[in-house]
Amino acid sequence: MNNSVYCFICGYNIAEDADFFNNANNIRFYMCPCCLFHYGIDDGMYKLMEYRQSWIKKGLPFGGELIAPKWNIEAAVKQLNNLSKCNFSIFSKANVNWENFIKVQNAEWTSEFDKEYIKSNWLKYRQ
Ligand SMILES: [Zn+2]
Repeated sequence: MNNSVYCFICGYNIAEDADFFNNANNIRFYMCPCCLFHYGIDDGMYKLMEYRQSWIKKGLPFGGELIAPKWNIEAAVKQLNNLSKCNFSIFSKANVNWENFIKVQNAEWTSEFDKEYIKSNWLKYRQ
C-alpha cells in the first residue's frame, strides 16, 4: 500500500488522515485539512491551480487559520515540495467518470511554485 498521497493544492500528505484508505472513493469527497479544498465539491467550481493561487493569496492558512500549531513558512514550503510527488492516477482509481476532470486539471496543473511569491504572501498576513 502506498501511504503517501498528496493534496494537489498544498502538498499535504492526505494519507496522514487515518480513515483515508478505508474507502477507495474517499478522494471524491475529501476535504484537505490544510488548504480546505473539498475534493468532489470544490473541484466542480474551481480549477486546482485557481484554488492554489487563491490559497496562496490568503497567506497559506492551515485549516483556515493563519496561526496554526507547527505551521510556519518553512513547514509550508517543505509541504509544497510534495507537489512534485502528486499523481493524478488516484482520481482514475476513485471514479472513471473523472476522466475529463483529470484531462483538464492535469493539463493546467503544475508542481512548480514561486518561493518568493509564497514568502511575500506569508509575510503580508503576519505583520
Ligand atoms: Zn490541501
